[in-house]
Amino acid sequence: MSGQEVRFHGVGVAPGIARGIVFLHHPDDEEPPKRRIDDSEVAREIARFETALIATRAQILEMQQRIAEAIGAKDASIFDAHLLVVEDRTLIDEVLRNLEREKFNVEFVFAEVANRYARTLSEIDDPYLRERAFDIHDVTRRVIRNLLGRSTKTLSTIDLPQVVVAHNITPSDTATLNRQMVLGFATDVGSRTSHTAIMARSLNIPAVVGLKDVSQRLRPGDHVLLDGTNGMVILNPSDHTLWEYGEIELKLEHVEEVLTSLRDTSSTTVDGRHVILSANIELPEDVPLVLEAGAEGIGLYRTEFFFLNKNDLPSEEEQYATYRTVAESILPQSVIIRTLDLGGDKFLSHSHLPTEINPFLGCRAIRFCLDRPDIFKAQLRAILRTSALGNVRIMFPMISGLSELRQAKEVLETCKAELREEGAAFAEEIELGIMIEVPSAVLVADALAREVDFFSIGTNDLIQYTIAVDRVNERIAHLYEPTHPAILRLIEMTVSAAHANGIWVGVCGEMAGEITLTPLLLALGVDELSASAGLVPRVKKAVQTLDNKECSRLLEEIRGLDSATEILARCEEVARRHYAELLN
Ligand code: PEP
Ligand code: MG
Repeated sequence: MSGQEVRFHGVGVAPGIARGIVFLHHPDDEEPPKRRIDDSEVAREIARFETALIATRAQILEMQQRIAEAIGAKDASIFDAHLLVVEDRTLIDEVLRNLEREKFNVEFVFAEVANRYARTLSEIDDPYLRERAFDIHDVTRRVIRNLLGRSTKTLSTIDLPQVVVAHNITPSDTATLNRQMVLGFATDVGSRTSHTAIMARSLNIPAVVGLKDVSQRLRPGDHVLLDGTNGMVILNPSDHTLWEYGEIELKLEHVEEVLTSLRDTSSTTVDGRHVILSANIELPEDVPLVLEAGAEGIGLYRTEFFFLNKNDLPSEEEQYATYRTVAESILPQSVIIRTLDLGGDKFLSHSHLPTEINPFLGCRAIRFCLDRPDIFKAQLRAILRTSALGNVRIMFPMISGLSELRQAKEVLETCKAELREEGAAFAEEIELGIMIEVPSAVLVADALAREVDFFSIGTNDLIQYTIAVDRVNERIAHLYEPTHPAILRLIEMTVSAAHANGIWVGVCGEMAGEITLTPLLLALGVDELSASAGLVPRVKKAVQTLDNKECSRLLEEIRGLDSATEILARCEEVARRHYAELLN
């Protein structure tokens, strides 16, 4: 018999309804709990440790066999090194010694010892030993999962359709998840513009974040209904709730039918103003969704997702193959390939970069690339070679001023010269753009506009850096206001600098997919909107029902207002008048 219905309220970040059983996800890098133990518990902890090592060994052997059958014994032999870790006497003896001396629970002691081993190896300048550090890391996670009795299944290996519940889901988790099996996401923390939320929208997976302690209140196998539109998770939904949601789903289906019928129509206002409507992608697998959505190409390809969760950096060849697949499948439309935006909330799993106190203000994006010309050049060469197809543009993220732009352009020119020398084909006149997402870039936008072919405003970061509000921190989410007058002025300044210098300007931050704000963005004069593929049809419908003159009147009215809430309310009024059915 099902239990009492319980409702958890959070923030809906990807629309839609999901029903299913709970898969409780624990990130692999979650710290194991730390607990003091008595003398009397030592023997039990040792026994737990032995059982976990045996279980881990069995799992590795099983995986090795599966891989040997699927792709051959050679690839499966990489697990030999993992087996050596579970059998390593020095490591095991040190864990036992520390356990008896320090008297903490064994998962804590084991993690401490194993992480120290891995760290020492990773710091030695020897590729073989660095590989061993990864092996230790992998096996440590597995042993700890076994000690904690957690499923060894991860988001990439779950094999039943389930609703994923977690304290947090990182962009790396989402980069490799098994998308057929994830019905919805529900997390304790998170925000609308975190890359996890962005990924959920791209994948069309309903998601609710900011649910506080939902991951502690739900158990694996619980029945839940997740409402990504209204930001709610309902445990044990009653028959009445299920009926209500059945009705809502029927209405949504109708709206979806209307939206699907717009696929081949143009995003033009009733009085004939066309705004280019493109889609953002994170992985090549997203391209079919872009085509289905009826977008005019890809306005932002976040290439860094291809770098997450990999043991090695993808080579130039691997990148070339990937970018080429994307560019070919979107032809005759074009793709804007953004160069790596690592850092912030997206980190390489294998890099041993120093941890930063303020990663969003640290060595992120173009700063990381200029610091690592080897990585930057491999990517630029791969993009340039792809440009031979004729539908590729390049975009640099997080440009903060002219000298940074010039440095990046210099690296691009070096890559072009190398390819010319090698006789490799590429588009000499490839269009180059930059993201406008740092306030300093807006203030010098006229100078930047003279050196590039287009701008794309990254409102996610522009808002975070302008209002000084961490985009992934749910405690201050109320301060994250896209309609803050300062943001509107910055967008207006960017548009005017771009147009004065004869270049086009788009918006590729999440604001572009917020249909409440479409009238405002049109009035601010942007030439392109690039949103998650799942949101593109809604934005198209919004544009098609709006009147450009009415949008301009809205902007005039808003100029007299100085509160973000009032401005938002005015936008909502206009949106509700034109497309209320899309807002509910
Ligand atoms: C942005 O900052 O608005 C943007 C589109 O880039 P990202 O979300 O990847 O930082
Ligand atoms: Mg950004």
